[in-house]
Order: sequence, then structure tokens, then C-alpha cells
Amino acid sequence: MSVPTPLMQVENLSVEFANKVRAVRDVDLTVYEGETLGLVGESGCGKSTLGKAMLRVIEASGGDIRYRGLNITTMRGTLLRSTRAELQMVFQDPFGSLNPRRKVADIVAEPLLRSRGADKATARRTALDLLDLVGLGREAGDRRPHEFSGGQRQRIGIARALAPGPRFVVADEPVSALDVSIQAQVINLLADLTRDRGLTMLFISHDLGVVRHVADRVAVMYLGQIIELAPRDAFFAAPAHPYSEALLASVPQLSPGPARERIVLEGELPDPAAPPPGCTYHTRCRYAAEKCRTVTPPLAEVQPGRSVRCHLPLIAVGSPSSSGSDRSPAATERPNS
Ligand code: SF4
Repeated sequence: MSVPTPLMQVENLSVEFANKVRAVRDVDLTVYEGETLGLVGESGCGKSTLGKAMLRVIEASGGDIRYRGLNITTMRGTLLRSTRAELQMVFQDPFGSLNPRRKVADIVAEPLLRSRGADKATARRTALDLLDLVGLGREAGDRRPHEFSGGQRQRIGIARALAPGPRFVVADEPVSALDVSIQAQVINLLADLTRDRGLTMLFISHDLGVVRHVADRVAVMYLGQIIELAPRDAFFAAPAHPYSEALLASVPQLSPGPARERIVLEGELPDPAAPPPGCTYHTRCRYAAEKCRTVTPPLAEVQPGRSVRCHLPLIAVGSPSSSGSDRSPAATERPNS
């Protein structure tokens, strides 16, 4: 098996807003070439902020971002512009992100003119080709965004993101503003384009059903930190973190098989400006022990390729073959399980 190549790496990344809220807290995360990494968590957990910081759409307050080994955290000027062309974003609100006064071909061509220095004719030709590729047809280029439905506008947003020839795309809740009937079409389009163009994608969503469909690995965020990172199938078969377990239990059954225990995710997300001490999830965790209230668990590898930030993970530590069966030796230590 070939060793995966890191494409995007963040180390110790933090984002603090002017109101002193640390939306992202000391995150270490690697996205490998060609994979789709699903980033999940409740609204307000910091996942969109992390995605934007990786692309320097917003600035980090600490830590490093490496793209293809190059530290882009402090990059400026022409080098930043040309690097940014390889890093693109698909936004949640396809309408809000499209200038209503411009023709669609101009919207899609704009990043090519700006960051690739293309001439107008080449940029327009590429834009029309891309509109065709995303299923809108070349004639869409002479119309304006308001003439399209929500799903079609998201296709325009995808064409615009593809225009400069990116290698890494952050898709931030790309289907959550769309009708359920349209979501699958846009997800399939994104999955096809990712595969055909060899893209690497960070797919941000609160919808685990969607993430299961597109992601190779899953990262779960809670109060600005990654609390679990796992291959997709292993994650959905047996989540290792109690928060992941509760998230999974709160969505409709994703696949046939034995019914999951219904776990109510109690309480609100704590105030990110004043996260709880120890394990930040202890205020909502049904397994919380005394240690959890005072000692911060590290994000530790519990099985090859699986990491979890929990003193009492829900899977056996060590061999992946034993995951999800006996619910871990640690289960015997848990006071409330
Ligand atoms: Fe729950 Fe403790 Fe694990 Fe935190 S460290 S998730 S409180 S069991």
C-alpha cells in the first residue's frame, strides 16, 4: 500500500476573534493528497472557521499552515496569490456568494483573471467549459445568478471554485441550504469532480448522512478542537468518542442493521469564550469520571489511523479488529456505562 502524501497540514492552529473567543484551539490536522476529509460537529464548534483559516480566508492567531510542505501562514504578495489559486472554497450560501449584477460567465472567469493572469478570451472559454462540466450548459454564461434555482447556483459556485485549477477545496456546508431532493445531485457532482480531477477536499457538514456518503475519513470537532479522527467505515461502525456516539445516535438510522441505542445529546454547547476545564465535553458526557473534570485528555492514537481525545474511549485501544465489538476494556472503568 502506498504511503499517503500530506497535502495540507495545520499545526497548533488557533483562531481568536476580537471578542477573545478562541473558535479554533491548537488544532493539528493533516489532509492527504486525493482524500476527502469530512469535518463534522454542531453549529458553532469552529469547523467553518478552521476551514477558512486553512485557506487564509481568515487569519489564524497562532500556529502554522503547510500546503505541499510550504508554510503559507506568513506568505504574502504574488506567491500567496498564486498559491491561493490552488486553494478554493465552495460556500454554503450559493446566492450570497455570487454577485447578482454580473453575468455568470464573468463570475466563473473572475478567479482565472485575478489569480492566474489569464486573458479575457481564455478565461471566458474556460468558464463556459466549466459551466458545461457542472451540468448547466454553456448558455448559462450569459445569464445572471437570480435566474437559477438554489441547486443550479451551487453548481455555479462549484464551477467558480474549479476555475483556477485548485488542488485543495474546502466545501463549507455546500448542500445544507438546498432542498433535500437537490442535495444528492450536488453531492454526487462534487464526488465525481473530486475523483475525476484528483482533488483533495475538506468537506464541512453538520449532516453525518452526507459525510458518510462523501468522506474517506471523518474528523469531529467540539468547542474548537478535534476530538476524534478516524477512517469513515470504522467511525460509523463504532465511534470512539462519547460525543461522536451521541452525534451518530441523534441522526436517523444511517444503514440497515441493529438499531443504535438512542442517546440524547443533553445541554447546549458551552460558551466557547469560557470552555469547561478538563475535558471540554464533560458537562454533557454520560461517561464523565472525576478525572475528566480536571485533566485535559490529549488527542491520542488509539488504533492505527484512529485518534480520540478522551480518557475512556469507547473502542478497544490497539488492534482495529476488535473495534466496536466488546466496547473496549475501558468500558469496565466507566462509572455510568
Ligand atoms: Fe467523557 Fe471523560 Fe471522555 Fe471527556 S474524557 S468524553 S468526559 S469520558
